[in-house]
Amino acid sequence: MTARPEILFPLFADLKGLPGVGGKTAELFEKMGITKPRDLIFTLPHSGIDRKIVGSVLDVPLPRVATVEVEVVLHKPPTARNRPHRVMVRDEKTEFQLVFFRGGGDWIRSQLPMGQRRIVSGKIELFDGLAQMVHPDHILTRNDAEMLAAFEPVYPLTAGLTQKTMSKALAGALERVPSVEEWIEPSLLAEKRWATWMEAVGAAHAPSSGTDLSPAAPARQRLAYDELLSHQVTLALARARLKKAKGKSSKGDGRLRQKVLESLPFDPTGAQLRSVNEIEVDLADPFRMSRLLQGDVGSGKTLVALLSMLIAVEAGGQAAMMAPTEILARQHYASLSPLAETAGVRLEILTGRHRASERQYILTRLAAGEIDILVGTHSLFQKTVAFNDLRLAVVDEQHRFGVNQRMELAAKGQAVDMLVMTATPIPRSLALAQYGDMDVSILDEKPPGRQPIKTVMVSAGRIEEVVTHLRQAVAEGKQAYWVCPLVGTSELVELTAAIERHRMLRLALGEENVGLVHGQLAAHEKDAVMAEFIAGDLPVLVATTVIEVGVDVPAATIMVIEQAEHFGLAQLHQLRGRVGRGRDASTCLLLYDTPLGETARARLEIMRETEDGFRIAEEDLRLRGIGDLLGVQQSGLPRFQVADLETQGELMRAAQADARMLIEGDPDLASPRGKAVRVLLYLMERDRAIRMLSVG
Ligand code: ADP
Ligand code: MG
Repeated sequence: MTARPEILFPLFADLKGLPGVGGKTAELFEKMGITKPRDLIFTLPHSGIDRKIVGSVLDVPLPRVATVEVEVVLHKPPTARNRPHRVMVRDEKTEFQLVFFRGGGDWIRSQLPMGQRRIVSGKIELFDGLAQMVHPDHILTRNDAEMLAAFEPVYPLTAGLTQKTMSKALAGALERVPSVEEWIEPSLLAEKRWATWMEAVGAAHAPSSGTDLSPAAPARQRLAYDELLSHQVTLALARARLKKAKGKSSKGDGRLRQKVLESLPFDPTGAQLRSVNEIEVDLADPFRMSRLLQGDVGSGKTLVALLSMLIAVEAGGQAAMMAPTEILARQHYASLSPLAETAGVRLEILTGRHRASERQYILTRLAAGEIDILVGTHSLFQKTVAFNDLRLAVVDEQHRFGVNQRMELAAKGQAVDMLVMTATPIPRSLALAQYGDMDVSILDEKPPGRQPIKTVMVSAGRIEEVVTHLRQAVAEGKQAYWVCPLVGTSELVELTAAIERHRMLRLALGEENVGLVHGQLAAHEKDAVMAEFIAGDLPVLVATTVIEVGVDVPAATIMVIEQAEHFGLAQLHQLRGRVGRGRDASTCLLLYDTPLGETARARLEIMRETEDGFRIAEEDLRLRGIGDLLGVQQSGLPRFQVADLETQGELMRAAQADARMLIEGDPDLASPRGKAVRVLLYLMERDRAIRMLSVG
């Protein structure tokens, strides 16, 4: 185990070693996630107070913090209990009052002797037409005023913690910042004209104006880059380790693929063919594949997965496909079965729900190589599941799993090539953060002949009309999804809403016409309802968001989403993507509660305007910011303290390119720059990367 570099010890020492930090304060800091000096260093000011000295309070728009030189004109002691002590002062242009509710007359007089000049700084406001400053933040003589920062940084706090305590502790932490070897690539550093890490840290905590607080300020940019670089180095190390792990070379002769393609009623799109080619090259080389297949809903990822798995089978090996839910695993199995049969490929499904004897039978055949492709859920990756010769693992709808889970998964399969599929059209900057360790194939072309989906916004007050239309549609033999709101945090509330809606729709449309699926149903019950819907025997399916990913029922042409304003756009896009899959025109109804806020309306309008998942994702990011992007949190997207993915996608790209180049040339981080980067990894607490290095 490589140890933390000594140079960083002071930053990882006890917080209580800092000035003004005792046990109580340390506890408050801990509430903010600050447990060591290092954490303080990366807690940057979010705003600042301008303390530049002005001639007169009349020179600033009130109310505002002003710093002026004044002459003390008159003390007016309190006239009664609970009345303030007032001090009349005069600046260049006007007289105003300083107001004290505490402090005592003697102390106030000592601070502001009659006839003397002082610099006072504090919030000036108008009260009864009179300018006044209640309890100035600073009262200083001209000499002392030089210590006053012209621009005072303001830090995020928690209740009980003051700016004073914060800046005192920070000053102590900043003294511990060591001078380190440069870890940024020299040409980039020169091009950006960034300062050293030590200087950048200092500058980030000593802003001289609002501009210095923006993510674009050079000091902040450099610190953001450090953060992104450490993340990308982690991903690049993972990637290099995967590649180094010798994979098997799987070369197919194309015979199985040809049979499947001949049996399809359509031709693969150019994007599908291109992706399969990219995968074929990866499978054939002796390195381990780690590839992401990104394609919007309905772009036909399943066919790409099948053709890829067939390459593994043609080469004499096995393939596995993992779906995030039971429903999806079953659906994949159902849709792949006829194609597998055509090609003479032995396909089986394994989920957590087989009887022990069934399961044993499947495992025995799997180990004997009598099953070519195994479809399933997480259970595929359990220890007890042993393949005869697994060549390719496909993970569907990956965004349900985070970066960490994926890495763990990859560590499990021995030298297996990995294809991860996602339908989440995440903006590029986020994709790099999340999948920087993988190669990417993109399905940017939809199968031809799809009809556009008509998207309509309807206020919840008109739900009766919606039901009436639905009754008509059911009479015409159409099928519809009805998605219940994702309200609040309680699954129970969500569930109650779905059950209630189910009851109401059954009354309105007929008992036999409406089914219900939600997360609490027993698996076989869920399957039974889904099977009925897929077979076309059930016109309306009421669901919580369990249907969100991947379900493919081409006959369904209506999608109703209640309280659509509560969903993330990416999620709405996923849901809407459940319809518009067949020949017939489809409709998506976005129900919303009134009044609808401006941003919420703008978001729903984007849904109405476009079906382009990438545009929707970019707009969502723009309108709501990353923190709010629904689904991102669960997706395991890393959180950054300084870097701002919304505006710094460019830096992320640079960091990725740099990290990959570095790790290709110096996989063990043994060169001088490599050693500097090690320090960075420790500083950024990239434990995973550090462990990978020490394991080798
Ligand atoms: P997703 O990328 O969302 O997983 P699917 O793989 O489920 O998409 O494909 C959506 C639908 O499109 C399926 O019914 C599939 O049979 C059909 N499909 C796939 N590829 C093509 C193609 N090249 N031409 C026409 N239809 C296609
Ligand atoms: Mg799919």
